Amino acid sequence: MKKIMIYTVLLFCLCLCGCDGGQGSVTETTSTVPVVTTVTTTAETAAKTEEIVTVLFETTTTAAETTAPETTAAETTAETTAETTAETTAAVTTAATAAPETAAPEKKGFMPSVLAGEYTYNDGSAPVIEIVDGVTYVNGILIANKTYSLPEDFNPGGLHPDAEAAFDNMQAAAAAEGVALKIISGYRSYTQQTKTYATYSARDGKEAADRYSARPGHSEHQTGLAMDINSLQQRFADTAAGKWLAAHCAEYGFIIRYGAGKETETGFMYEPWHIRYLGVDLAKAVTESGLCLEEYLGITSAYAE
Ligand SMILES: [Zn+2]
Repeated sequence: MKKIMIYTVLLFCLCLCGCDGGQGSVTETTSTVPVVTTVTTTAETAAKTEEIVTVLFETTTTAAETTAPETTAAETTAETTAETTAETTAAVTTAATAAPETAAPEKKGFMPSVLAGEYTYNDGSAPVIEIVDGVTYVNGILIANKTYSLPEDFNPGGLHPDAEAAFDNMQAAAAAEGVALKIISGYRSYTQQTKTYATYSARDGKEAADRYSARPGHSEHQTGLAMDINSLQQRFADTAAGKWLAAHCAEYGFIIRYGAGKETETGFMYEPWHIRYLGVDLAKAVTESGLCLEEYLGITSAYAE
């Protein structure tokens, strides 16, 4: 009998919001209480994990009207998952978008290693944060930023096939309109990122490098879901390709991940060339919201020190 321990901890992460240089950019959603669930599992027990994720999201349909307890720490085993998740996901009011009661959550085309379960739309409630094998999923969306890192050995082996296929479609559509798009940087391993960051921090200093280059384990490129298009110059935004990308990438499942004027929230300066695959529905929802992904999910992006 495989045993899965679930550690459910409710945390205030308000402390993180104040660690970004005192910019005072606490968004509405970051003031809510995030629900943090750590699922420790192995590849063998991945199926079991899906069950738990299913339970976690199903319970949200019955907990819609409940308010979150202010400070509760609970430790439980899989046997008592249903009761505990009902309590700890009380802050999530996602009845309108939760999976149907009997159906397992759809994977939206992601492999389990990339997306743990169904995502939920932001309705202003607390984010549900799951940590599966060291990888953070916020409302089911894999996140790598300054707050949430990837394990050194997280290696999808390249760009995610869905992200790559989506890019190919986007590239063809752009070409049909006379716009050339190419990937100049896709998947980067932890080791590659170590070298990349070391090079930039040696050249520009750590403080400057931290604005545009992620420390090892914190790069979205390690997820296999991010890519840099055409140019690493901010003037790319003013080119035909840059404008086309900004206007159309959501139609193919991408967002401009580090938007203009969002450095305090994303942790990175404006990068009109860096796109992140989210799938079409979510990419459109985030883009139409006008929020960056951190704001959309109600999370921070700041290094601990
Ligand atoms: Zn990039």
